[in-house]
Amino acid sequence: MMTPDASDPRASEGLRQAFTSHSRHWQQFDYVYPVISRRSQGLSIGVNLNPDTVCNFDCVYCCVDRTRPPARRDVDLKQVEAELEQMIGFAVGGQLWQEAPFNDVPPAYRTIRDIAFSGDGEPTAYSGFEAACHIAIEARRRHGLTDARIVVITNATLLHQPHVERALQLLDEHGGDVWGKLDAGTEAYYQRIDRSSVPFQRILDNLLMCGRRRPLTIQVMLAALHGEPIDDAEFEALTERIVELKRGGAQVHTVQLYTVARQAAESYVSPLSNEEMDRRGRQMSKRLPEVDVQVYHGV
Ligand code: SF4
Repeated sequence: MMTPDASDPRASEGLRQAFTSHSRHWQQFDYVYPVISRRSQGLSIGVNLNPDTVCNFDCVYCCVDRTRPPARRDVDLKQVEAELEQMIGFAVGGQLWQEAPFNDVPPAYRTIRDIAFSGDGEPTAYSGFEAACHIAIEARRRHGLTDARIVVITNATLLHQPHVERALQLLDEHGGDVWGKLDAGTEAYYQRIDRSSVPFQRILDNLLMCGRRRPLTIQVMLAALHGEPIDDAEFEALTERIVELKRGGAQVHTVQLYTVARQAAESYVSPLSNEEMDRRGRQMSKRLPEVDVQVYHGV
């Protein structure tokens, strides 16, 4: 499926600007930030549980600025709760839509689609992740946001840990969604693009375990490294890993193929062309006809 994005002529300039503005900083807030999300097709309220910017991946395409010291390193859950409350109030009460770049966002996109744990590192690595999930669930309930999901955007490295699984089980009952990253089909390419000490097999095992327990979205970054897009063999291997996950019982219902849209950590990383993204989308759809393969162009 092709999803409308900012390169679509139908998208207004205001929407394009909102799509490209993905700052994780909002006024004086330390943890909570608003984003107009192409993937959610509306307002995604981000919760950053990694203000220290530490991550157990070192993705070559990462857009987190680690050249400057972070404003703070700790997570104050009371403040997270207060900021989330305030942000939902801004969105529902209309103040958010008076601030640039949100003031040009069309009405159809002014709905809270999700509260997303997605920050400057791996959200499940924060020891208070379970408590943070409780806060999101409570905020969603208090404001009657029954249509909004609580999304965990994860690199899957820690899904096997009991406290993470406990938190996900909690979210299963309260509109939770897991979006797990899978950028490679082989250990070698995984080490080129994600650069982690966590073995590739751990990612696959965790996605399988997690996907057997609940529906799963897989997120795939397709980028060019030194001008070379992911090659056919690697893309086929990647697709095969998803086929294997499904064969093993993982409930993969959506794959999101996206490319570089912001300043990457490494200068040799660049986005794939719209045509290349569409071609990869068609290829993957052929192998996974029962999966919603969504393609997101660069901006
Ligand atoms: S997992 Fe996310 S935060 Fe961590 S390095 Fe990769 S892109 Fe950056």
